[in-house]
Amino acid sequence: MKRLEGRAALVTGAASGIGRASANIFAEEGAWVVCVDRAREVEETAAMIAKAGGQAIAMIGDAGSEDDVKRAVDLCYANAGISGDWTPFLELTPDHWLKILQVNLIGVFLAIKHSARVMSPKGKGSIICTASVAGIRSGAGPGPYSASKAGVINLVQTSANFLMGTGIRVNAICPGLIETGMTKPIFDRARERGSEGKIGQLNPLKRYGEPEEIARTALFLASDDSSYVNGQAIAVDGGLSSSLPVTGRG
Ligand code: NAD
Repeated sequence: MKRLEGRAALVTGAASGIGRASANIFAEEGAWVVCVDRAREVEETAAMIAKAGGQAIAMIGDAGSEDDVKRAVDLCYANAGISGDWTPFLELTPDHWLKILQVNLIGVFLAIKHSARVMSPKGKGSIICTASVAGIRSGAGPGPYSASKAGVINLVQTSANFLMGTGIRVNAICPGLIETGMTKPIFDRARERGSEGKIGQLNPLKRYGEPEEIARTALFLASDDSSYVNGQAIAVDGGLSSSLPVTGRG
């Protein structure tokens, strides 16, 4: 039996990167997937799933808009996110912050709120959120982005506890550096300079990650294999967040 047979899943940010890989793996495991993204390419994700024999529909919508988020689901992966630019810290304005927080933190709150409403009468559900290693400590993204992801980590802890007794689990994944649409400029720049060998060298596995490696963690959190995992932020980062910076090892 497939691990998500007979379940409905909502994945935001499903047009690209981690969201697309997760929608694919959820469908392979038997889930009926609602793929949501503000980008048209979300239709390609649904078509890809259908071509492979899975069940999916595409919805063009904004993960930061309450109307767009209301939907019936058994499991929800609130994954959509934006990084924002590297505006110098002292030049950041409230508008910079609001733009990031609307999608990365309020969007995740909306996904939790509306999926929990549907899951609660069923007494079961898994809500997965994408945070980031940038939310664990500084150094992996712009200030508003990092703070938004720290907010997601706290939000999963808070909501897991507010949803006490409902049977709903809420967890976050904290990816390290993954090659996706979001990080394309980093990879493109490094390839142009011939320094791609340096990408991902800061973690003990000494490589960057693939979207499928995050998707497989999402599958674990989506399935009953993780039935006792709740309120956690799981780093999937090759070990990047496990150490303070050191000058020499071994
Ligand atoms: P990506 O840019 O390839 O995919 C993100 C998707 O989210 C895009 O398809 C985009 O259109 C969609 N999106 C953005 N804002 C939206 C909105 N308001 N409504 C609906 N859809 C929206 O990037 P990715 O790396 O796959 O990002 C997925 C998640 O992973 C994000 O939350 C990101 O912050 C997080 N993350 C990525 C990395 C990395 O290295 N790539 C590391 C840590 C965390």
